[in-house]
Amino acid sequence: MGKVNFSAGPSILPRIAFENAAKAVLDFDGIGLSILEVSHRSKEFQAVMDETVALFKELLGVPEGYHVLFLGGGASTQFFHIPYNLLEKKAGYVNTGVWAKKAMKEAANFGETVCVASSEDKNFTYIPKGFDIPSDLDYLHITTNNTIYGTEYHTDIDSPVTLVADMSSDILSRPVDVSKYGLIYGGAQKNLAPAGVTFVIVREDILGKVSRKLPSMVDYRLHIDNGSMYNTPPVFPIFVMRETLRWLKGLGGVKEMEKINRKKAEILYDEIDSNPLFKGTAVKEDRSLMNICFVMNDGFEDLADEFRTFATERGMVGIKGHRLVGGFRASTYNAMSVEGVQALVDTMREFAKIKG
Ligand SMILES: *Cc1c(COP(=O)(O)O)cnc(C)c1O
Repeated sequence: MGKVNFSAGPSILPRIAFENAAKAVLDFDGIGLSILEVSHRSKEFQAVMDETVALFKELLGVPEGYHVLFLGGGASTQFFHIPYNLLEKKAGYVNTGVWAKKAMKEAANFGETVCVASSEDKNFTYIPKGFDIPSDLDYLHITTNNTIYGTEYHTDIDSPVTLVADMSSDILSRPVDVSKYGLIYGGAQKNLAPAGVTFVIVREDILGKVSRKLPSMVDYRLHIDNGSMYNTPPVFPIFVMRETLRWLKGLGGVKEMEKINRKKAEILYDEIDSNPLFKGTAVKEDRSLMNICFVMNDGFEDLADEFRTFATERGMVGIKGHRLVGGFRASTYNAMSVEGVQALVDTMREFAKIKG
């Protein structure tokens, strides 16, 4: 096995997506031009766009009444696009970490924002539950997978107000009941594509309700009416996303993907829980299937750097934890294989044997 990439994002993608991307850079669709130079208005690229939207809808089970957009700017740009389009008076945010906080900060520029629940008291090691959602909110914003802290909602919550979700790091990793959400968005560079494209799934009926004027590029309505082609879309990342989605469909879709993701997470969490050198950081019931965070166990803290070097020498890359959590984070996105995770587990065991 060569390098195994556990990076949090940009991150691993299916091998076939890389191969087909490489081919398309040299000759896209047999037309004698590179995907990097074709017009986004060409019929060949339009076909890519159409198929990518269709696959996205099919794989996630997006119902009638919703639109799927592919825009630029990253999830961070959506942090202000969302309140721009939806916040008239008051919005609620669940604070489950850095990304949730950043989203809330942007919204405060447009109206009143309330933090309806937070897990900051325990360094975001859990997902708040059983909190009240005020019925006078324009929307409630959640972050379904907290990439930095390794926590994840494992069910779609019920909300009496429009539910908005940042799914940057768990989109298409498991089935989602889209009908429970008004808007789902994320940067695609965690699970779907190289950096540069942002997905937005928006329900038609939540738009057009704010009184402020919207600059063109911020207006979802305009992007819907122009099929994500009001301006030049991120052509190459969208092409690679199509390849990833084709791969996902070939694998059996999101249900099948979830089974594999569960298996990977189980293998790694089992090792974290049983290996005397390591311990997990997130509360068990809220552990993420995508970003698996762990640290050296009590008494072994000094071995962190040594383990990182040990793992790197064995081809495991990108496992350094975020500075706010420390330790290690293994991102086990869709494209990570069971074998890749097993290789990390073997490395942890080998290290324990030497040090234990
Ligand atoms: C990575 C990430 C972001 C930021 O995405 P950008 O595309 O870099 O703006 C936001 N939210 C979550 C949950 C993330 O994982």
